Amino acid sequence: MYGAIEAGGTKFNLALANDQGKIIKEKTLPTKSPQEVLAQIISFYQDHPVKALGLGLFGPVELDPKNKNFGHLLNTPKEGWRNYPFYQELNQALPQTNLVLETDVNVAGLGEYYLGNGLGKKSLLYLTVGTGIGGSYIYKGHPLQGLSHPEMGHILLRPHPKDSFSGTCPYHDYCLEGMAAGPSIYARYQELGQNLGPHHEVWTFLAHYLAQALVSYTVILRPDQITLGGGVMHSPGLLDKVKENFQAYFHDYLPLPPLDDYIKTPKLKDRSGISGALLLVLDEKTKKQLILDANLERGN
Ligand code: ZN
Repeated sequence: MYGAIEAGGTKFNLALANDQGKIIKEKTLPTKSPQEVLAQIISFYQDHPVKALGLGLFGPVELDPKNKNFGHLLNTPKEGWRNYPFYQELNQALPQTNLVLETDVNVAGLGEYYLGNGLGKKSLLYLTVGTGIGGSYIYKGHPLQGLSHPEMGHILLRPHPKDSFSGTCPYHDYCLEGMAAGPSIYARYQELGQNLGPHHEVWTFLAHYLAQALVSYTVILRPDQITLGGGVMHSPGLLDKVKENFQAYFHDYLPLPPLDDYIKTPKLKDRSGISGALLLVLDEKTKKQLILDANLERGN
């Protein structure tokens, strides 16, 4: 048996997979205090022991195995989670399990790269637009990693001339996360995006910021494909607005695939993260078979 956890800022998804990598049981937990969440995870995997467990954890998180703080949450604004040694605690509680750590956005990127929009491609950029904004760049099957994982949500942007807001990020004015993540909508209008309707000006603003970010990622990384996930992307019409603005700002500067293939929502819908977390721990043969099956399904 294998296990996978997609650990986000609002909820944790736990999965149990059989030896063929097929998910047979799942459980969702709200992201309460780390102690409460840990107790429930430990109990789940004590009831259903697994040989290996892939963990996609929200960040920022220390990913350098040589660092003594490996697996600690870093500067997260989330109550009780800052500097919490989540990986260590879980690892100690499940000593028989090989625990493999990645970020939540890296596992979502891996899921799409291997089983979704990235099938048959060399690289894929995954951007999640939800409570926060984070991105991963998967190149030849591996997430890009420098000093630590990228923080694509904190690039600086040109404000929209009609938007007087300067962002929710405590670190930067006019950064992508501060200007375009879900909380920026509430901060501007004291209302949730879904209550504002698809013709509200806020979508024009968000599309303006997301398109600028995609232009930057495109020229810096030249990904084969860009996948836009996260709750905010469920807003009707937003994807099309982002593509229109991208076209206008990029101005055909470089050759790209057709825009409808280049910028898409996740092929795996809300399963990118949990699928990617599982891929972290499957043995090579099982992983290859899953990818082969996904290709066959798609007719590649
Ligand atoms: Zn920022």
